[in-house]
Amino acid sequence: MDVVSTGRMIAELESDPVSGKVVWVPGKSLWIAAMTLVALIGAPMTFSVDALAVFVVLTALTICLGHSVGMHRLLIHRSFQAPLWLERVLVYFGVLVGMAGPFGMIHAHDIRDWAQRQQACHDLFAHRRPFFEDAFWQMHCALALDHPPRFMIEERVRRDGFYRFLEATWMLQQVPLALLLFAFGGISWVVWGVAVRVSVSLTGHWLIGHFAHRGGEQGWRVDGVAVQGYNLPRFGLVTFGEAYHGNHHAFPESARLGIEAGQVDLGWWFIRLLSHLGLASAIKLPSNMQRRAGLRRVAAAVGGPDTQRKSCPVLRTLLR
Ligand SMILES: [Zn+2]
Ligand SMILES: [Zn+2]
Repeated sequence: MDVVSTGRMIAELESDPVSGKVVWVPGKSLWIAAMTLVALIGAPMTFSVDALAVFVVLTALTICLGHSVGMHRLLIHRSFQAPLWLERVLVYFGVLVGMAGPFGMIHAHDIRDWAQRQQACHDLFAHRRPFFEDAFWQMHCALALDHPPRFMIEERVRRDGFYRFLEATWMLQQVPLALLLFAFGGISWVVWGVAVRVSVSLTGHWLIGHFAHRGGEQGWRVDGVAVQGYNLPRFGLVTFGEAYHGNHHAFPESARLGIEAGQVDLGWWFIRLLSHLGLASAIKLPSNMQRRAGLRRVAAAVGGPDTQRKSCPVLRTLLR
């Protein structure tokens, strides 16, 4: 098998995206388990309308500005340019999602992206396993490849003191926020603004990743790669555009994910706002990018292993 390199993942002679062991990662596993437990027990006990509002506003801020725009479209894909202070603010919001530090996020994204672009890859990278097994793998484990590619973050980011600080303290970054929430709204704001938000964000992130690699709509296909991405239009709005994952596989560097008519992409609206304010430039779009190899138009087809297997009618309807 010919193994190719991608931006930060440099394939070496032995590099292999298939063989490896799935290992339990205690830190990440206990973190998400603790957040989910506090959310499940604490949320009903501390519910109030203002706590729910805090949850909604903070989730929107951290997922849209932080995760989707700051981490994914800017730090990872460099789909536009922004002043350094703004990049740091957006990445900080991304760290508040509670998933990983900036370097951990880049690695988790890039190793999957690298593996999916090969001719074959391990089941973990493709979300090929059944629902609950995939949940355990993705949220509580990691794949230790026998022969991983060499991982190299660009020097400017790697040497950034603020990013190093965030990487070392990403879990602790919930503490100042929790104290602020406690001061203004007591324990119910802490439960909803931290535990419920973090557990919903992490579980939601896995759910979208799971379904967006198994079936759905596709405007484009990429031939010759191990894994396809699919659009989940019903989730376009609540994921701030990230659910248009088929488009993302087709045009990975595009700042806009909802590229077809009717695909609402709030992350893209935010980038356009930044651009109007003179804070975003050199914006990459399908129209000004080089097409990736193997890309083929398949106008709005519904496909994928899950849809072919017709596994669950409720899920199929939901995902349409
Ligand atoms: Zn993908
Ligand atoms: Zn990506």
